[in-house]
Amino acid sequence: MQKEAPLLLCCDVDPDRESFAAGGDIEKSQWSGLSKGIPRLLEEVTKLERAQGLEIHFNWFFRSDLQMEKTYGDAAWPYRAWEDVAKRIIDRNDELGWHPHLWRLHEDGRSWFQEIEDLDYMDSCLCKGFDAIPDEFRPKVVRTGWDFHNAFTMKRLSDLGIVADLSALPGISDKGALDMKTGKHIVVRDWAGAPDRPYFPSRTDPRKMAKDASQRLSVLEIPVSIFPLPSTMRLARGVRDRLRGAERRPPMSEPYITKSGLLFKAALEHHIAKRDAAEVPMVAEFHADELLRDRGGYSLRNVLENISLAKNLYEKAGMSPRFRRASDVAMELRKRMEE
Ligand SMILES: [Zn+2]
Repeated sequence: MQKEAPLLLCCDVDPDRESFAAGGDIEKSQWSGLSKGIPRLLEEVTKLERAQGLEIHFNWFFRSDLQMEKTYGDAAWPYRAWEDVAKRIIDRNDELGWHPHLWRLHEDGRSWFQEIEDLDYMDSCLCKGFDAIPDEFRPKVVRTGWDFHNAFTMKRLSDLGIVADLSALPGISDKGALDMKTGKHIVVRDWAGAPDRPYFPSRTDPRKMAKDASQRLSVLEIPVSIFPLPSTMRLARGVRDRLRGAERRPPMSEPYITKSGLLFKAALEHHIAKRDAAEVPMVAEFHADELLRDRGGYSLRNVLENISLAKNLYEKAGMSPRFRRASDVAMELRKRMEE
């Protein structure tokens, strides 16, 4: 019998970005990644499941936060406005998680920035966002906006009863990009030194494993399966960064299941070779708007091809892949880690 190995396919369900569809201002934003992309993928996946004899579950993280409240009058607006999609997700035993962003309205009344300092704002964003979610969709798992965490936000999720957080990008640390409209940086996150496999984070630092029970939060951190970029791509990125005058980034990348098979293969091979893949879940990401494309750098077709690729690589390594719900995997991991 082949050993079963867990894979977690995680989708951040944000409004469409400008480069993928008619994005732009949040007021005018479209949600076609959610309304069209997700149902389209689920249809295609049902065919793939039949053809390959696989059972494929995804983890979908919906927005609920103060930007949603200010824009739509309801923090959990996506859960209610797209209730049909949310119900379909629950019906097929996928995970419906939560993707809170810490967006805050700038004093100009139009622009938004990533709040990373004001703890009262973060508190209100997370508590109101969580409370607004309808009971039938109560989330057990979280991926935060831009993978941001500090000691306060991680403890808050733990206090709210969240079973697992899947935001950590071990070894990746970004000071963010300066947004000219607000004079503030966005896409700020710091996961330098974080373990690359599941751990109970410390109360004082989400990047560190708790040393003892008094330091330990109850939320389990399940890190994203970061991998080193293949050397050809590393070169291309180095040149691009030098041209832009950007700071040299470490050659590590997040695995996107919507990206080309070449990249996803590198991510899978790294995971299988370097981590105990029968125990440590392979955590891959994508965004809903990436499903609107049929070809190119990101596409729905890549998701289907990458699932088949994962099946082949895992089987070659003597394992049978299981595409699972994060909360189920988290409960099993917790049990084993607490033994
Ligand atoms: Zn997001």
